[in-house]
Amino acid sequence: MYITSRLHAALTAATEDQLVFDLGGIEDRYESLLREFPGISIRFAMKACPVGEVLSCLARKGAGFDAASPGEVAQALRAGAPAGRIHYGNTIKSDRNIAEAYRLGVRDFATDSVEDVKAIAAQAPGARVFCRLATDGDGALWGLTRKFGCSPAEVPLVLETARAEGLTPSGISLHVGSQQMTARAWAGAFDRMAGVMKALDARGIQIDHVNLGGGLPALGYLDLCGRPLAPPLTTMFAVIRQGMRRLGAISRARLDFLMEPGRHLVADHGAVRAHVSRLSTRRMPSGERQHWLYLSCGKFNGLYETDALQYPLVFPSHLGGEYVHAVVAGPTCDSDDVFNRGRGLVQVPRDVASGDPVWILASGAYSASYTTQGFNGFSPLPCTWIHREPQHVLGGRSR
Ligand SMILES: *Cc1c(COP(=O)(O)O)cnc(C)c1O
Repeated sequence: MYITSRLHAALTAATEDQLVFDLGGIEDRYESLLREFPGISIRFAMKACPVGEVLSCLARKGAGFDAASPGEVAQALRAGAPAGRIHYGNTIKSDRNIAEAYRLGVRDFATDSVEDVKAIAAQAPGARVFCRLATDGDGALWGLTRKFGCSPAEVPLVLETARAEGLTPSGISLHVGSQQMTARAWAGAFDRMAGVMKALDARGIQIDHVNLGGGLPALGYLDLCGRPLAPPLTTMFAVIRQGMRRLGAISRARLDFLMEPGRHLVADHGAVRAHVSRLSTRRMPSGERQHWLYLSCGKFNGLYETDALQYPLVFPSHLGGEYVHAVVAGPTCDSDDVFNRGRGLVQVPRDVASGDPVWILASGAYSASYTTQGFNGFSPLPCTWIHREPQHVLGGRSR
């Protein structure tokens, strides 16, 4: 179980449902990435946690932002990031999106097609573009395949078009897939990037940065059967460092590295305080009797990723005692609102009562963004946060 004492204290003190962030923990993760990859620039992928206080905390530390829309660009600026540290990392954008981001000061755009490059040239004249390379997503919980990126053979064509259109072909990027669980995927990514850099060099295109994307894992998740996912983080870091050295050696010019972590920075340092709606024992149509634990918070309050993983659950008023195995589900009238696709049963104290607190750990990533606007009248969870300094322990509240 992965939880800081600060977060534990905040959850203990909470009497209402909320999503709590430990800003100190998020800062520590940020700093440890800078230590692991000296010289790297971090552009936090905003969709993983579009919570103002979390963004300002990262901006104060010097982080930049990977924004996917003019709305995210504006939010990053409000959080205090200079426009030069914000890039438009979404390959999908309308003419109007590009023009708006350019007006807000963004000068770096991801791309993966000739059509998009021409639109950037028209709406953001002179901008810098980096071309996203497709990956197979193998080894990741969410592969992010097909929708993004071009084949290695196509990258030179896209960047040559950029140059011909008066843009600066400045870099390449990729994403190895979200919650990538293997170091092998990273090794394969560096092989591809090395090949692409050589092809670009042969065409006279000298890039100045490589964007390694997101994909770094959270540490606190369980798989659908309730076992710790335990990603090999140390090995991954070693493979990434080695890959960075290799690309640096290929490049004739100075090569800067960017990374766009999302969940790795925030997942383990956010937790939901929810409560038990009811523990019921029901006879299913098959005749089987099944325990069902209904919580106040489910897929439509942001816990959408329970399709592919389990969050550790803590029942703080029931440590010990007798347990039953239950299906866990959210509170709405939607049969999709069931954790773990109803497969992995979860150990639940037999005597939990309606209203008892439940902590849903490692839920700091993507929960604030996946939440609906009050599906069935269940409002989005309020976000709260705690600072590292004891004098700020009270934190704040948003929404
Ligand atoms: C979502 C996203 C990220 C962050 O992914 P994580 O797996 O959360 O690290 C980074 N870059 C881009 C372009 C993304 O779309």
